[in-house]
Amino acid sequence: MIAEKPRTVKEYKTPVHINWCPGCGDFGILVAVQEALAELQLPPHRVAVFSGIGCSGKTPHYINAYGFHTLHGRVLPNAAGAKLANRDLTVVAVGGDGDGYGIGAGYFVNAGRRNIDFTYLVFNNGVYGLTKGQAAPTLARGLRTKSMPEPAIQDSLNPIALAIGSGYTFVARGYALDRKGLPKLIAQAVHHPGSAFIDVLQTCPTYNDLMTKEWLEATVEEHPRMYQLSDEGYDGVVADPSSMDEIVAKKAQAMTKSYEWGDHVPLGVFYQARLRTYEEELEERMPQFAETPLVHWDVAHRDVGELLEALR
Ligand code: SF4
Repeated sequence: MIAEKPRTVKEYKTPVHINWCPGCGDFGILVAVQEALAELQLPPHRVAVFSGIGCSGKTPHYINAYGFHTLHGRVLPNAAGAKLANRDLTVVAVGGDGDGYGIGAGYFVNAGRRNIDFTYLVFNNGVYGLTKGQAAPTLARGLRTKSMPEPAIQDSLNPIALAIGSGYTFVARGYALDRKGLPKLIAQAVHHPGSAFIDVLQTCPTYNDLMTKEWLEATVEEHPRMYQLSDEGYDGVVADPSSMDEIVAKKAQAMTKSYEWGDHVPLGVFYQARLRTYEEELEERMPQFAETPLVHWDVAHRDVGELLEALR
């Protein structure tokens, strides 16, 4: 028998020309996803990548796997539907902060509380890059990027706190240009059974001249602005998922930590718990669901006469 060769990062690349701006943080996230898929040795035909609208929406074009470029803010219902139809797929959803926390905010919240087994990466650059840099929901009040005539007059939302409150069972923050850490964090999220969410800080050199590589990677009072939670002894993992007290305590700890911003920006896993997934819930209630994924059901040749008769 010939041994299968290990999959390499190259296998997840496509020949499609990448047309992001030079220096865009999206490049770092794209490579990190490809490296994570290679690390997990996932066959490309078992992976599906979904996106919304925005610069990040082009990501599925650049990854050799199934891909679906959906509508603005609608990436999560599409990703969830695919996972429920074929739970053998590894589903990765990507989108920008405007897409996910603006128009898609309702889907963001409701996907989290279902705990469907998929990974959602938000490319957080604080602006709507594709439409020339308007303030996105993550841009703080009073900030004014070079593309804005006036400073933002609304408060920003806190994606980590929102994800924890919504019920995501893996909540983390990454950095697009973290060559070593981001692929590992994405692999961890993909490996996690349940809804995994990573808010990825992404530089947009074209429109955001505030959250730049230089600002993020600066040293503040002899400490790097960005630091790994694990380096500080922080542990967000729930050891006993049957203990509601522990879940509440870990969520409260993660919520508090999520408000740290400015001179100190934590990266890594804020909260993780192995809780019952939506699929496990369905398997218990619908034995047919447990038997085989819906995509394998022979619905085309099913006799629905009895059903129609019952409805008369
Ligand atoms: Fe990247 Fe910003 Fe250019 Fe969009 S506008 S491709 S986010 S640098």
